[in-house]
Amino acid sequence: MIFGVDYYPEHWDKSEWSEHVRLMKEGGFNTVRMAEFAWSRLEPKENVFDFTWLDEITDLLAENGIKIILGTPTAAPPKWLTNQYDIFLRDKYGRVRGYGSRRECCANNPHYLERSRIITEKLAAHYGKNPNIIAWQIDNEFGCHNSTRCYCSHCRSAFAEWLRQRYQKISVLNQSYGTVFWSQEYENFEDVILPSYTSCDADCGDSPTHNPGLALDFYRFSSDSWIAYEKMQIAIIRKYSDSPITHNMMGHFSDIDYEKLAEPLDLVSWDNYMDNQWNCNSFETAAMAHELMRGAKDQNFWVMEQQAGPCGWDQFGGTPRPGQLRLWTWQAIAHGCEGLLYFRFKSAPFGMEQYWLGVVDHDGIPRRRFYELKQTGEELKRLESLLVNAKQVSDVLLVKSYENVWSHKIKKHVPDFDYRNMLLDYYKANQRLGTNPVCGGEKLICNRYRVIYMPAYAIVSDRLKTTLSQYVKNGGTLVLTFRSGIKDENNNMITQTLPGLLRDLAGITVCEFDSSPIAVRLSDGFGVTRIWRDIMEPDGAEVLVRYEGEYYASSPAITVNSYGSGHVWYIGCDLEDFALKKLVQIISDRAGAAYIPHPGDTEAIKRKTDHAEYLMLLNHTASKTDMGIRGQSLISGKNFDGMLDAYGVEILRV
Ligand SMILES: [Zn+2]
Repeated sequence: MIFGVDYYPEHWDKSEWSEHVRLMKEGGFNTVRMAEFAWSRLEPKENVFDFTWLDEITDLLAENGIKIILGTPTAAPPKWLTNQYDIFLRDKYGRVRGYGSRRECCANNPHYLERSRIITEKLAAHYGKNPNIIAWQIDNEFGCHNSTRCYCSHCRSAFAEWLRQRYQKISVLNQSYGTVFWSQEYENFEDVILPSYTSCDADCGDSPTHNPGLALDFYRFSSDSWIAYEKMQIAIIRKYSDSPITHNMMGHFSDIDYEKLAEPLDLVSWDNYMDNQWNCNSFETAAMAHELMRGAKDQNFWVMEQQAGPCGWDQFGGTPRPGQLRLWTWQAIAHGCEGLLYFRFKSAPFGMEQYWLGVVDHDGIPRRRFYELKQTGEELKRLESLLVNAKQVSDVLLVKSYENVWSHKIKKHVPDFDYRNMLLDYYKANQRLGTNPVCGGEKLICNRYRVIYMPAYAIVSDRLKTTLSQYVKNGGTLVLTFRSGIKDENNNMITQTLPGLLRDLAGITVCEFDSSPIAVRLSDGFGVTRIWRDIMEPDGAEVLVRYEGEYYASSPAITVNSYGSGHVWYIGCDLEDFALKKLVQIISDRAGAAYIPHPGDTEAIKRKTDHAEYLMLLNHTASKTDMGIRGQSLISGKNFDGMLDAYGVEILRV
């Protein structure tokens, strides 16, 4: 099992390398990732390559039994390259996103593409057959720093070609977008604009003020541009190496369609920072991110960068408490991680990330964090046969759609509506009940899951309708909510009665809605709803909860419809946390979906291999907690009495 660190030999004098490697061995780290930001040292001048230093450290690591994941260095171009060629992104105001940090390059820039091809080919040809290179990482965190979408002239030409492939005739595009609105009809594909700054921008904050079909296509195109860039590098590496190829993704990040980005990769990896300058993630946010990463290919994944200390750029996030680094490692494993590297080995005293602390501090002395990880590594090694190829046991799927993220971002309905937060709310409700839902895209929909949640699934295609009908007919339980089935694939409102293609499945008609920001009480102890209320008439569905206020008092708020051998729930409004958990329990009980009761702020996750089944218990609180579950500990071999230490972890045989 990979248990490693991210390492930057180019940051240190060669004389220090052997001490670093000695400490890595002492810590039990068996793998390093290297070189993903070392372009200026690998190609110091155009077409002048120097791999001698990387050869030396590769040999030193190999002599010490440490394997290597090699990154292509294309996320940070060297200065000479940007002197020679204008490869910079343009923002929607036409401003150059210039040199001085990273990820400043445009995926459609011909010079950047050419230089990327050359450095990737050189690196792959040099190291492709090296037995110590066990995997490749393409680039680094595509889309980071809001770099997915670019508004340069190269992107404009590439967009025209992308549109030509999609629509063939400009009349079809005009029809699909409804460009007759505000006289925006285009004469040819080259005529189509990129959705940049307009005279209406001040009215809509962050949302694009362009035709919604154009805006959605530009999001699709921008995502596809990076996927094409990734495929270009994969094809080159594949010529020289059979080792697995991955890219380090970013969990909940949604500017790039991670389902599509994952497709050409052998495995998904991602970078997990629980508490940094920008976020102090709840454990549920991290758990869901792990699940999304597992779901992207429906297979176990690696964490390429796992937090190893307090971190941030100009400010630190919180300092991980004793036990938390171990806990976060085990949390990743519990959700399907089977290879993990900590970022970074030794903290850099210079550069933008001088505040990003690694396994050892700036002075290179191993302290608390080092020894905690060392212990964690020993545990992982001992239990490896249980962890690799383990599968999760869950009856519940939560579906995320990147196109729906974009559609809801382009037009967000009301100020307090947030699709991604809504997904997280449904995830949390399930986590708190103990169903431990799998998360992923439409591809995962199948009758292996007893319950499938698809909150606010705005864009519904005929093909998806067929898949869902089949799933429910065969006995599945589908959960829909307000803002489902409202749009077509061009991001236009549908002209059928809502919820459109889902109407017969849901067995209700949405007659109107109340988007006023007011609190309306719900019947049966379901609290109040504040953001959105669909006002519905049942067409055969059973009514479970009703509104108790406003002009629609006593009309249905939550319904369930029988369809074939299955059921379709329709949740017409937003719910408070407690009400959502209560509802998820009712849905699970009716559908026979299993859950594991456990205290708040803890996780209880069942996993199995071909030979064993076990329960992982994680305590995310700072106090000892009675988990209400006893058994034999696979970590200590002793009897576990149910009391789990602060930030503690237990694994019990089932
Ligand atoms: Zn561009």
